[in-house]
Amino acid sequence: MTGSDTIYAISSGIGKAAIAVVRVSGPASAELLSCLAGGLPEARRASHRTLRNPATGEILDQGVVIWVPGPGSSTGEDVAEFHVHGSQAVAAGLFDVFNSIRGVRPAEPGEFTRRAFSNGRIDLVEAEGLADLLSARSARQRRQAVHHMMGRASSVYEEWRSGLLAVLAHVEAAVDFADEEGVAEAAMLQVKNDITGLVGSMTAALEEASRAAEIRNGIKIVLAGQPNTGKSSLLNALARRDAAIVSSRPGTTRDVIEVAVEIEGLVVTLTDTAGLRDGSTDEIEQIGMGRTRREVDGADLTLWVCSPDIVGSHMIAEGVSPSLVVLNKCDLLEFWPEESGDTLHLSAATGAGMAGLVQRLSRLIRERYDHADEAVIVRSRQKQAVRESIRHLNDSLSHDLSQLELVAEDLRKAAWAMGRITGRIDVEDLLSAIFSEFCIGK
Ligand code: GDP
Repeated sequence: MTGSDTIYAISSGIGKAAIAVVRVSGPASAELLSCLAGGLPEARRASHRTLRNPATGEILDQGVVIWVPGPGSSTGEDVAEFHVHGSQAVAAGLFDVFNSIRGVRPAEPGEFTRRAFSNGRIDLVEAEGLADLLSARSARQRRQAVHHMMGRASSVYEEWRSGLLAVLAHVEAAVDFADEEGVAEAAMLQVKNDITGLVGSMTAALEEASRAAEIRNGIKIVLAGQPNTGKSSLLNALARRDAAIVSSRPGTTRDVIEVAVEIEGLVVTLTDTAGLRDGSTDEIEQIGMGRTRREVDGADLTLWVCSPDIVGSHMIAEGVSPSLVVLNKCDLLEFWPEESGDTLHLSAATGAGMAGLVQRLSRLIRERYDHADEAVIVRSRQKQAVRESIRHLNDSLSHDLSQLELVAEDLRKAAWAMGRITGRIDVEDLLSAIFSEFCIGK
């Protein structure tokens, strides 16, 4: 793979469609477009053209072409786009012509975005945001991805990094004034304050990160309770399809069943578990119960399901702290029970009270995830780098005035870790720029 190749790919979806968008990027884009469209159209405008095979003169299709010269294009290179009819034969006809031109080849996965990154059009966080947007399944995932793709998270990382570099410049200044009593102390006090401030805002962002990761990966709601209280029936009612086995024999749901639904714009994985009851001697059921405990431990929200026909089912099993208690099978009761405290009454069989459950879940999710889709840190790679940066900053705070070089070294490492997040790691260049500016007139 070389950067001077010209690459092409169908950028629209695969399969039969009214229109296919074929994108080309690289130095041969202009030649390729003009030989197919009979000349280069006006830049950055959609132009309708008849596309011909230049070797035979055969008309391949009519369509819209767009010419975007670099470096102001999406990849930073010369880009040509062909909006043609979405048939395989049209694409094949275009590709034959492309392949006849030297240095033109099909793109590898992600290669357009990679070139955009290499040419400084986007940074790594924006590229990751774009990848997340392409695979977003819920409204919140989309919002979070757009936030990252548009560079809003990157600007926070950049702020942190430039903050670090500014502190570093101050440390260097303190080194220069080390002989002047008072001046170095005052500079160092400022430096320590600035570092503490940075650590504070990075730590706050890390705390938000786990919620943000839950949005990205989807959140997990686990249904737990004694056997036969109607957990599988409830899961089916929530998912509105028969996803779990419903049976009147206690202990049927021995394994874990998961269904993904969307609540409050969030992908929610509902997990139905084997019932938790004491005194079971059935080995397989016990294994199922062990899994249930693990599921409950890993849940973002847990519902405890009980029912009036299962005696003692309202007793919450040890180690479970449910976000919500649900009394199912209320249709069996002579009178629908009065609302009481945190217990929600419903009937998975008749559907009564189900809307209330969805509402309550929505509220729980809203409380937990409001603003989390604007979080700065969403991937473990980003989390690790921020943690590393905080570690170096804390190290830098442990040195005293006689160890300014060590403070500077820790700050450099912290800035490096931060630069790795966006992929802008030319720290040394930036350092020299900052220092040359700082030292003028000294
Ligand atoms: P699980 O073991 O907790 O998953 O319970 P199931 O969903 O398998 O249900 C156990 C039994 O209770 C089945 O016979 C269901 O038909 C019944 N059941 C579940 N929900 C309701 C309900 O709301 N009302 C009534 N009357 N029966 C229910």
